[in-house]
Amino acid sequence: MGSDYKIPYKIYLEESEMPTHWYNVRADMENKPAPLLNPGTLQPMTAQELGGVFCDELVKQELDDDTRLIEIPAEIRDFYRMYRPAPLVRAYCLEKALGTPAKIYYKFEGNNTSGSHKLNSAIAQAYYAKKQGLKGVTTETGAGQWGTALSMACAYLDLDCKVYMVKVSYEQKPFRREVMRTYGAEVTPSPSDTTEVGRKILAEHPGTTGSLGCAISEAVEVAVTNEGYRYVLGSVLNQVLLHQSIIGVETKLAMDKYDIRPDIIIGCAGGGSNLGGLISPFMGEKLRGEADYRIIAVEPASCPSFTRGVFAYDFCDTGMICPLAKMYTLGSGFIPSPNHAGGLRFHGMSAILSQLYHDGYMEARAVEQTEVFRAAEQFARVEGVLPAPESSHAIKAAIDEALKCKETGEEKTILFGLTGTGYFDMVAYEQFHNGTMTDYIPTDEDLQVGFDGIPKFPGNLQ
Ligand SMILES: *Cc1c(COP(=O)(O)O)cnc(C)c1O
Repeated sequence: MGSDYKIPYKIYLEESEMPTHWYNVRADMENKPAPLLNPGTLQPMTAQELGGVFCDELVKQELDDDTRLIEIPAEIRDFYRMYRPAPLVRAYCLEKALGTPAKIYYKFEGNNTSGSHKLNSAIAQAYYAKKQGLKGVTTETGAGQWGTALSMACAYLDLDCKVYMVKVSYEQKPFRREVMRTYGAEVTPSPSDTTEVGRKILAEHPGTTGSLGCAISEAVEVAVTNEGYRYVLGSVLNQVLLHQSIIGVETKLAMDKYDIRPDIIIGCAGGGSNLGGLISPFMGEKLRGEADYRIIAVEPASCPSFTRGVFAYDFCDTGMICPLAKMYTLGSGFIPSPNHAGGLRFHGMSAILSQLYHDGYMEARAVEQTEVFRAAEQFARVEGVLPAPESSHAIKAAIDEALKCKETGEEKTILFGLTGTGYFDMVAYEQFHNGTMTDYIPTDEDLQVGFDGIPKFPGNLQ
């Protein structure tokens, strides 16, 4: 093995070393993320208003910009022990294949049945719903990982779980659907005729393959019209980034054990939860002026919220019933081209990451899906893990950075988040292998249609 073998292939923490607190990066931000606004009054959403949609404890976390460390309840820590700590892997085999002097590490979050990091927040959200005495929760799912994670968490805690699944995924991924049903969830393809907003969207866009924005509208409607139900969301929200900080806190502990300091930290960005979680303790150091890191968000060129979106208040859902969030957005009416198979299809981005990006604390780049799958395959062949298409955006950027090091001879340390496995994404892999996968990059005119739907009011896009 390489000369560097004092660092093992996999760095695990002992159970006794597992984090006891989530880290709230907002506490160290000088410019806090902008508050959610009530779309009717354009005033910040109060805890009471949010309480109609979300569980009380989660509302508290959503609004808490100041508490740096929040204790992880013992019950959630017990659940985490079933599949955590997640390994931090030194990608020796990939380094060798690339012939790079760079040192590459990835934090692997795919070691659980849901196959992604989403379980970290699903169990927290289900736990607080249960603690409040609720009957169940509703949600949307796109590729299916979030719905699966939530189903697992709800099954564990004996909560009812209703999932609205984006229609194109529902049809492309029947096995995902059956995993959710195995864990007791009720799964409905969206848009559906089971909700008012779904019927409206179907009337306006017959034959639509759906979008996360539509599915969110449906799930929220069901939550607010059914006694004892609340809505939960798998990404974007401040509370989700808080729960996902477990990824970064574990990573930092593992790296500190071996005196490893990353130069570059890379994550794929859909709604921003895994990236926000992975970078949080590193970003904290950067915000406090204690260390500097290059942080790169990687998104699909077909859904380029950071790189081509606008920073404005916008709806999180197509039905325009959710609060307004200030974020990088393509407009809530934006629906990625149906040939986009690589996930990360949400039109907006976490308000926390949007603010950090706006303030210059991180960079973003967009990559095309065929090059993402090429990177995925290269990675799978040498590192063994079959990566999710979403995660493969980060792999692509990590490989590119490692190849730059090969040119310059720099021995940089690169850390990326490997968010999950791709066993349910074989239709997309099949398209790639058959050469039928295409790249579609929206034109400025395409994007303008989405931007036109962003609400205009004084101070917002005016
Ligand atoms: C959901 C998901 C993502 C993207 O969501 P973020 O909130 O941006 O992290 C990335 N990878 C996998 C495997 C996912 O399931």
